[in-house]
Amino acid sequence: MRFEMAARERVSKARETITCTPGCASCCYHPVLVSILEAIGIYRWLFKQGVWTSRLRKKLAEAQEAQSGVTFQVWLLSLTPCPLLDEKNLCVAYDARPFVCRTYFATSDPYNCHPHRLGPGTRLVPREEAVDDYHAKQAVLLKEHGVRFPAMPISQALLLAEQVEMGKLQLDEIDSVLVQDYLEKG
Ligand code: SF4
Repeated sequence: MRFEMAARERVSKARETITCTPGCASCCYHPVLVSILEAIGIYRWLFKQGVWTSRLRKKLAEAQEAQSGVTFQVWLLSLTPCPLLDEKNLCVAYDARPFVCRTYFATSDPYNCHPHRLGPGTRLVPREEAVDDYHAKQAVLLKEHGVRFPAMPISQALLLAEQVEMGKLQLDEIDSVLVQDYLEKG
């Protein structure tokens, strides 16, 4: 919220306009990586809202299959939507969406946010500093719990978060699960 307010102020001072509108969702086809900590928060929210269904779990598993282990370029080219995007192009976890989603504000024509058109014509409100700071703080917390992988695709993170919440997986086992997964996918 603080970032959004600052971003809006900055854009207005520069006499620009944030061009993001509900239902655009081009950025939901970009790679979205989150930590297990962030995923646990999103999972809890989805569960509480009654949105964590077997249908959503299936979507997550399919997205994990498509997105794990691929490069960002392949992810963008594949036009695979985030599994939390619904049929109306809206985020089912909007109130609990990841920090990278909360801090994405375009000021250029939304046409240039399409995954195949990202480039010099795509202008975003600068967010690197805020995102780096957020990740650095999480890395410290994660390390305390024996997790060294800071982030993974959102689909995989949410499925692992469910296991953690159900007591089937400990936080300090996450790294070995990820290593195993990367070894299997080559
Ligand atoms: S979490 Fe929500 S806002 Fe973020 S990419 Fe997925 S659908 Fe879009």
